[in-house]
Amino acid sequence: MSIITLSAVQMADKLAAGEITSRELVQAHLDRIAEVDPKVNAFLHVNAEEALSVADEVDADRKAGKPLHRLAGVPIAVKDLIVTKGQPTTAGSKMLEGWVSPYDATVIEKIRAAKLPILGKTNLDEFAMGSSTEHSAYGPTRNPWDLDRIPGGSGGGSAAAVAAFEAPLALGTDTGGSIRQPGAVTGTVGAKPTYGGVSRYGAIAMASSLDQIGPVTRTVEDAALLQELIGGHDPKDSTSLPEALEGLAEAARTGGGGSLAGLRVGIVAELQGEGYQDGVEERFKEAVELLRGAGAEIVEVSCPNFVHALSAYYLIMPSEASSNLAKFDGVRYGQRRLPENPPVTIERVMSATRAHGFGPEVKRRIILGTYALSAGYYDAYYGSAQKVRTLIQRDFAAAFEKADVLVSPTAPTVAFELGSKLDDPLAMYLNDVATIPANMAGVPGISVPAGLSEGLPVGVQFLAPATEDARMYRAGAALEKLLEEKWGGPLLGKIQDLTAAPAGSAADAASNDAAGEH
Ligand code: GLN
Repeated sequence: MSIITLSAVQMADKLAAGEITSRELVQAHLDRIAEVDPKVNAFLHVNAEEALSVADEVDADRKAGKPLHRLAGVPIAVKDLIVTKGQPTTAGSKMLEGWVSPYDATVIEKIRAAKLPILGKTNLDEFAMGSSTEHSAYGPTRNPWDLDRIPGGSGGGSAAAVAAFEAPLALGTDTGGSIRQPGAVTGTVGAKPTYGGVSRYGAIAMASSLDQIGPVTRTVEDAALLQELIGGHDPKDSTSLPEALEGLAEAARTGGGGSLAGLRVGIVAELQGEGYQDGVEERFKEAVELLRGAGAEIVEVSCPNFVHALSAYYLIMPSEASSNLAKFDGVRYGQRRLPENPPVTIERVMSATRAHGFGPEVKRRIILGTYALSAGYYDAYYGSAQKVRTLIQRDFAAAFEKADVLVSPTAPTVAFELGSKLDDPLAMYLNDVATIPANMAGVPGISVPAGLSEGLPVGVQFLAPATEDARMYRAGAALEKLLEEKWGGPLLGKIQDLTAAPAGSAADAASNDAAGEH
């Protein structure tokens, strides 16, 4: 059990020192997946053969003295929204059941070039729409801390895999919080890079102006290293930044050691109070005191338009999603359904395919989006939401005059019970109140484990100005180190023994619900 609980950097060091081989490391993870994933359901697909053959290549290269990437041979899991040649990509939807991409996403090309064995594809809310992974067409993922609770969403599979020691590294996507909120509720680190910092080419688009691919890991340094690996300009993504963001891992390393003197940390007045659980606020306040103790200057900032971020997001995101999802029409990708009765016209095939292939949450958002974009309502809804977006960007600009980084709880609550919010979309949407502003402005954000409340993980979020990802990693690593000194080790050291844990119970009802038509 011990090798698989290490950080990716620690694993890489053992590989470099010849203490273990990549084959042993990959096999240990495959064994762990076989043992615990029937309980957790983090993976939709495992590709043992491919992972082991990449591991063998790395071991041979190392023997031959060839230069290798720092993370070469360390296995990784990939959210099943990111396309992979030769492995299925479902987006958590029946629509893409059985579909295999003919090409790799840019991030996957980079991971293959650096020779990280890809263990498989992880579960998610259908087309990344949700905060609990219960909207997957393939049954929910369970939180490894408590199998009757949700692992967050939409990237619950990646976060649960990392928390359950099934993979040391994973990729996620974050449109409104789907990397950071699962990180918070599973006690893992999740980072959303600056918009454009990582190519989106090959990430199935949800809302293109908000989506970013990012790392899910056990430590801040691992996240920084992984972002450096997958980041940089990509001619295939016209929104990718011209220059790679550099110095991220270095910032995480030095941030973990140095003092915080001179760092101005802004507490956002609007990202606390009503709606945030007491236990979450307590852990947050303790984290702020630790930062203060390490020399940071704590300042109060106000971002008055953040209170409208959620409403504006739920107009912009569905609008873009309704347009992005129009391509799933039964003609170009995945499933095709014929109408039950003739005539078999193209419109009726599309309609039958979409009625069958999409789950209730996806349909809800497509309807919301087409409504918000329809002639006569466009200005009132979509147009107003875009104005709010500009105001949020101005709030950030003003806040970053007073503070170098902003800090807040990542999610308002700890992990809730499976099934408890499935019938209440608005309650589900509220999980992202603290994470959405970053997507609206394109700024980077990271969630760092900040302790437990009621035995469940709480996350603290750092936000930095666009392209200042290194600053975010520095602050995140500093807090991580302060907390580990306090606890005497990483938070994941306190997670339950999954091999002994009885299988959870509440999820079956939830999975039927998610798959059924409302
Ligand atoms: N939970 C949010 C939503 O449902 C965020 C999704 C995401 O970031 N992919 O829209």
